[in-house]
Amino acid sequence: MKNYDVIIVGAGPGGIYSAYELMKLAPDLKVAVYEKGHTLTQRRCPIDGDKIKECINCKTCAIMSGFGGAGAFSDGKYNITNDFGGTLYEYIGKKKAMDLMNYVDQINLEHGGAGTKLYSTADTRFKRICIQNGLHLLDASVRHLGTDINYIVLGHLYDELKDKVEFYFDTPVETVKKDENGGFTVFTKKEGEAHCSQCIVSVGRSGSSWMEDVCRDLEIPTSSNRVDIGVRVELPAVVFKDITDELYEGKIVYRTNNYEDLVRTFCMNPRGAVVTENTNGIITVNGHSYENPELQTENTNFALLVAKHFSEPFSDSNGYGESIARLSNMLGGGVMVQRFGDLIRGRRSTEKRIREGLVVPTLSATPGDLSLVLPKRILDGIIEMIYALDKIAPGTANSDTLLYGVEVKFYNMEVKIDNHLETMHKGLYVIGDGSGVTHSLSHASASGVYVARRIAGAEAD
Ligand SMILES: Cc1cc2nc3c(=O)[nH]c(=O)nc-3n(C[C@H](O)[C@H](O)[C@H](O)COP(=O)(O)OP(=O)(O)OC[C@H]3O[C@@H](n4cnc5c(N)ncnc54)[C@H](O)[C@@H]3O)c2cc1C
Repeated sequence: MKNYDVIIVGAGPGGIYSAYELMKLAPDLKVAVYEKGHTLTQRRCPIDGDKIKECINCKTCAIMSGFGGAGAFSDGKYNITNDFGGTLYEYIGKKKAMDLMNYVDQINLEHGGAGTKLYSTADTRFKRICIQNGLHLLDASVRHLGTDINYIVLGHLYDELKDKVEFYFDTPVETVKKDENGGFTVFTKKEGEAHCSQCIVSVGRSGSSWMEDVCRDLEIPTSSNRVDIGVRVELPAVVFKDITDELYEGKIVYRTNNYEDLVRTFCMNPRGAVVTENTNGIITVNGHSYENPELQTENTNFALLVAKHFSEPFSDSNGYGESIARLSNMLGGGVMVQRFGDLIRGRRSTEKRIREGLVVPTLSATPGDLSLVLPKRILDGIIEMIYALDKIAPGTANSDTLLYGVEVKFYNMEVKIDNHLETMHKGLYVIGDGSGVTHSLSHASASGVYVARRIAGAEAD
């Protein structure tokens, strides 16, 4: 049986930064990373828009899995803030969380990210303009790597790690068992069993059901009560130009008059493209953009999301989100698109209406009627917020603004871990999005660095 000091499950940002920090601080430790997806260079989604137009449900999704995790083809926006992106600060404290996110930023700069722009929302004139219009702009610094530079950074990190850490790609871990004599055994079909003294589990959102099984087997308590549901808005880039030129991404929150629900903008992609996302066979919508001007589009896209928190006896918040996404998949055969003007007039969009509109869609989606998919309360909140945004970015509520549905932000169940991100089983850490504690590149990466430092003895009790 193979024997390691540390086994890391998952090569997303959480796993990569754990490995990186262990390599730096404890080079004598024998470290292995098991990843169910491919190497970075082998990751390729088969959708080419020509022969393959829709998701064909590959065995492992090249967008979500492989070196770089879900973040590999993301927009590479590292939000350095405790205001959103996760609740890591509740475990390790606000200052430490910020320090670690800044440290990750430095590593990114040293590995190909130098020259990319760092935006900041603090003390900007938009904060005032937002407040004057009933909107709240959250504070954050945002490093925008862009999909292209993000890929380069990942490539450099892999080059530095590959001779010091043992990587096993295309090797999903089946189970993790606690050994009687201490440590853990990791089981894989491809590589057999491996033993380790300490195990870092960083399986992200794509590993959520697997994580549930592991927690059940090891009797680690979990909880789950939140899902965010909404649409992706696409409009001419000039409409949001003032905001995106100055802030790159404005995280704006609005409290609706009708129900006092919170609606927020999420994942803003100036001059970007709308894309589909496949989570466990369910097609939802997302977006990204490139730093390279040649790859940019005429449109900006962002999500408008409404958070749903459930209370007893209901506990399957992700199941609720999946059902709504399935409904849109059923009606639209995938993602659905509707003009805002059609939604307000209570009619479906058609190919003709979309074609005649002034916004050229960047994603080929089925024209339809989102009011048949989204619950009224959620849709009402989104419409209210579009009118509120229209006051700070006139044109947002134009009839031709496109709404793609549905966008669902699933939250992993929260795994019970202590302030050191360690489970009740000593030496078993759960980090990144798979822990339910983080929901972003910067928080997931920071959690990886934190645990690595602790294992290396560089983090005090
Ligand atoms: C299209 C898209 C765009 C995004 N854009 C941004 C953005 O701009 N900014 C931002 O902050 N966040 C963004 N995100 C979210 C961000 O990518 C995640 O928050 C981040 O990647 C989480 O890191 P992680 O390491 O926790 O998990 P992941 O990145 O999900 O990595 C987990 C890895 O574990 C592997 N794995 C799972 N189960 C197993 C198993 N049983 N055995 C072995 N390996 C396993 C997976 O294959 C995966 O590679 C985006 C996400 C998507 C999908």
